[in-house]
Amino acid sequence: MSRARRITIVGGGLAGPLLACLLADDGHDVMILEQRGDPRKAGYEGGRSINLALSARGLEALDRIGLKEQVLDEAVPMKGRMMHDREGKKAFSAYSIIPGEAINSVSRGGLNCTLLDAAESRNNVKVHFGVECSIDVEAASVTWTNNDGTADTREADLIVGADGAGSAVREAMAETGSITASTDFIDSGYKELAIPPGPDGSFLLEDDALHIWPRGRYMMIALPNADGSFTCTCFWPLKGEASFEQVDSPEVIMDFFKTHFADAVALMPQLVEDYQANPVGPLGTVRCSAYHLGGTAVLIGDAAHAIVPFFGQGMNAAFQDCLRLADALRNHADLPAALVDYDRTQRPDGESIAEFSLENFIEMRDKTASALFRLRQRIRKRLNRMFPKLYVPRYNLVSFTTIPYANIRRHMAFRQVMLAGMLLGIAGVLALITLGIRGTI
Ligand SMILES: Cc1cc2nc3c(=O)[nH]c(=O)nc-3n(C[C@H](O)[C@H](O)[C@H](O)COP(=O)(O)OP(=O)(O)OC[C@H]3O[C@@H](n4cnc5c(N)ncnc54)[C@H](O)[C@@H]3O)c2cc1C
Repeated sequence: MSRARRITIVGGGLAGPLLACLLADDGHDVMILEQRGDPRKAGYEGGRSINLALSARGLEALDRIGLKEQVLDEAVPMKGRMMHDREGKKAFSAYSIIPGEAINSVSRGGLNCTLLDAAESRNNVKVHFGVECSIDVEAASVTWTNNDGTADTREADLIVGADGAGSAVREAMAETGSITASTDFIDSGYKELAIPPGPDGSFLLEDDALHIWPRGRYMMIALPNADGSFTCTCFWPLKGEASFEQVDSPEVIMDFFKTHFADAVALMPQLVEDYQANPVGPLGTVRCSAYHLGGTAVLIGDAAHAIVPFFGQGMNAAFQDCLRLADALRNHADLPAALVDYDRTQRPDGESIAEFSLENFIEMRDKTASALFRLRQRIRKRLNRMFPKLYVPRYNLVSFTTIPYANIRRHMAFRQVMLAGMLLGIAGVLALITLGIRGTI
């Protein structure tokens, strides 16, 4: 193992404390600096999607720090998608042909608190909340102002940017001129609403599914929570027809939901109040020319590759980053070499899952409602049943395996070429047979 290092993690959201646990277990001296208050005392103030889908990659990382079973105990497994049409008719489609294979709905706030508890239970991790950081990425030094106005500085071997989509560490790295970074926003945003539990605490919709109301340019999804409620997320255009900008007054909101999401309206007694009170969040993709700066700074999670949430992989990818970074630091005595190794695997993965997520945005928004899409899904499942080793749908490779996203992308490209070749071959044989029958050859 490489020698113990002083590591400062900026950001105590989901990836920060998980990485802290992994690094502490390898003997490193870790400090987390988080700008918000402690969510275990102040309550969770994130507001960004109250629940998240946790799948194989996230579970692998949680397993490494001994939290997998605890987190799964509090999760709600979702075995498939439940599509709701305008008339309120529902159609269930299982994610997997393997019995019991499911993605898991977990509380973001609950998971954040569990991870912070786990990090703080390690002697070599310290966490400071409510701090404002000034970051020198080249010197691996952070100065922060505490709540009481006092300032502290920590000189470290390495700074990790786990500070989310608007990362200050990424910005500081870009300011050195050594890396470039960009954020591309899509023209849709999101807003969260709620379906409360029934009077006896029961679920008012099927609790083993991720519910989708696909309506062309706008859609709504709902994930179950352990308390019997559902968190609904509307993904709509920001401007123009059927947008957050246009659907604003109580009458228009009610009318819009009754027209497009009629079966959900009856389950949402606070619909108008929630809709008007909850903010619209932006959705975008962060891309970086490198995830590290020499041997002094490195990015993980959304700071490196924020993605649109349509594959349910942002947190899962962030957790996989944590594993890969911890592995790289363990395998290399030299810090720059460790970070080059991390960048070599994780950047192609970040780029691949970003592309998959944008493609899934189109698929969920425009295609899940179509009969052709459902036919293709059925064919994919049939192929998967017939050739379970040879043909696994992309969704399943992403959600139920830990195969690097970039390898899945290459595999998909290869499979498409093979399929196109096979179809051309079949068309050629049919053409020859037809010509033969007509006596042309
Ligand atoms: C609507 C929506 C739905 C989603 N659904 C899913 C899903 O189903 N499955 C999934 O896997 N992913 C999902 N995601 C993505 C997931 O939320 C993110 O990928 C994940 O939170 C990334 O974790 P992170 O630790 O990198 O960043 P964050 O969780 O954003 O944590 C960053 C932390 O850094 C702190 N911070 C920021 N700036 C500073 C600073 N300057 N100094 C100190 N601290 C700072 C923040 O306060 C925060 O605590 C979804 C995202 C959205 C928006």
